[in-house]
Amino acid sequence: MIACGCAVCHSADPRNRRTRPSILVTTAEGRILVDCGPEMRLQLIEAKTPSVDAVLLTHAHADHIHGLDDLRQLTFASGNPVDVFASPATLKRVMHVYDYCFKDTGPGGGKPQLHLYELDYGQTIQLAGISIKATRHVHGTLDVTSYIFGDQFVYCTDVSFIPEETMTAFEGKDVVVVGAVRPDSKPHASHYVLPEALNVLSRLSPRLGLITHMSHSFEHASVEASLPKNRRLAYDGLTVNLDGDNITLAGDTDTSIECR
Ligand SMILES: [Zn+2]
Ligand SMILES: [Zn+2]
Ligand SMILES: [Zn+2]
Repeated sequence: MIACGCAVCHSADPRNRRTRPSILVTTAEGRILVDCGPEMRLQLIEAKTPSVDAVLLTHAHADHIHGLDDLRQLTFASGNPVDVFASPATLKRVMHVYDYCFKDTGPGGGKPQLHLYELDYGQTIQLAGISIKATRHVHGTLDVTSYIFGDQFVYCTDVSFIPEETMTAFEGKDVVVVGAVRPDSKPHASHYVLPEALNVLSRLSPRLGLITHMSHSFEHASVEASLPKNRRLAYDGLTVNLDGDNITLAGDTDTSIECR
């Protein structure tokens, strides 16, 4: 964090260096980016990502959309506009913040070419050969979209409450990613803290539960050591491979995830 002298911000462990939350879902047919924060460009360069087929947004907070301008580089590379899917409320904010992308501003400059698609809660779409269901959860007073990929993977960040019907939709999935902002039990107005996120994982009982959206109050190694089995802290660059019944984590020595 800027202007912080704490031990985590000065840690030599790269897992304590956190850019804004985002995931890239890769299938046999393509790549889907979920959220587009200020470091999106650097994240995709670091991951050596050759192309992105679509972008899904969870909500329009700055840490999730302020990299959208850099999507123009994908159009330079492919010659095609970028398809962006999100709730109507999120798209309204995107059209406001990035208004210049949707007006004639004359020649020159290289604006991203974005094709926006409304994705309502409960709707399922097919992208890159995988079904993706959009579900609703709550982040303080804001509705946010969580995404369920196929019948295996749930991504639910920026969350302080999960409605029962969404919780039911999350059941039976192999991997659940859930946000938590602090490791202690002191409640936060718009995010789960770690004990609340672990309670969700305990109820859903996925084979692998990952925590994301952590602040510098998480020292990676010490907090992770306190977690139950197959509950882990995500970190920048972590790869989760889902191959049939096998779940492996790349960039890690402990890759065995037990079956339910
Ligand atoms: Zn710090
Ligand atoms: Zn947020
Ligand atoms: Zn956020």
